[in-house]
Amino acid sequence: QPHLSRPIFDVRLSALTRLLSTLAVLEQRDGKLSSASLSAIAAAQKLGGSVTGFVAGDGVKSSAAVEAAKIKGLEKVVAVENAAYEKGLPENYAPLLVDNIKSGGYTHVIAGHSAFGKGLLPRVAALLDVQQISDITAIENEDTFVRPIYAGNAILTVQSEDPIKVITVRGTAFQGVETEGGSAEIVDGVDPKAESITEWVSEDLAKSDRPDLATASRVVSGGRGLKSKEEFDRVMIPLADALGAAIGASRAAVDSGYADNSLQVGQTGKNVAPQLYLAAGISGAIQHLAGMKDSKVIAAINKDPEAPIFQVADVGLVGDLFEKVPELTEKLKK
Ligand code: FAD
Repeated sequence: QPHLSRPIFDVRLSALTRLLSTLAVLEQRDGKLSSASLSAIAAAQKLGGSVTGFVAGDGVKSSAAVEAAKIKGLEKVVAVENAAYEKGLPENYAPLLVDNIKSGGYTHVIAGHSAFGKGLLPRVAALLDVQQISDITAIENEDTFVRPIYAGNAILTVQSEDPIKVITVRGTAFQGVETEGGSAEIVDGVDPKAESITEWVSEDLAKSDRPDLATASRVVSGGRGLKSKEEFDRVMIPLADALGAAIGASRAAVDSGYADNSLQVGQTGKNVAPQLYLAAGISGAIQHLAGMKDSKVIAAINKDPEAPIFQVADVGLVGDLFEKVPELTEKLKK
């Protein structure tokens, strides 16, 4: 990729910014926008140019679309009311999105890198015959994007010459959308009402009163060092309560049945970047670090002073977690 000197680049960018028009695909559940939707908008705003929101599902014009219209910086919100799109099934949603992208003439299509975005956008890219650009963490300019590869061990800069860029964005890298103060117009999108052989049957969701792991400002995670599910709950839950934190876990803890699948942090789990991430009994394998190393403050408790987690930790405590965590919990309660 040739290096462009600043002045030429600025002229080129400002000329193109006027032509940029981005569709931010908004994910909703029961009429409420997800945090991944806000990240999609944040990334779209970073690109510059006009930003349109897109939302589809049952009764969205009086719920999620209204919420989206209040977001600052959205020019309009395209809404399609049809229960067939309520659960965001990619088989139904992809043809819908493609028709709306074509009718709106967008240069960029952006969604969060959530299960919804990961399932949907590669299909959309294939239907548009362009490449999918996944899980970006930075935007260099309108056709150049940065994404981590090999579990975050290398950073790739990709440039796309496709006429439409189809992109998913990492939530922790794009934040800070103002959810009040906007007054975007809500307009009807096109609905191809395509026949689909896929139908929503049911879902089984893990319910929790705790803060959502992906967006919590504090996360306490336990690893294989917790030894059993009983000990995991006995030691980690009071600590999480004392801090008002979400609970996370390493893959070893999840695989051993100490914690639910939905709590896994890392390359094949969730990406988190809270203000505070406290890891207890976690060694700090690269696949775990890939999901939490962008946290603002990392604290680690481990009995092994050589544990790799200490290389990324801002604060480390070498000791037995069964002694140290309850002690810390008691001090926090005071
Ligand atoms: P261990 O590595 O066994 O570490 C346990 C730690 O607890 C040790 O450091 C030990 O010193 C400490 N300890 C033990 N007892 C005590 C005590 N009493 N007090 C204090 N400390 C104690 N892992 C993830 O976490 N997330 C992922 O998303 C993920 N994805 C993966 C994807 C792939 C393709 C692969 C190959 C692996 C992936 N892994 C992932 C697994 C990863 O490589 C590690 O195996 C895993 O993270 C280890 O979990 P752990 O740190 O809990 O366990």
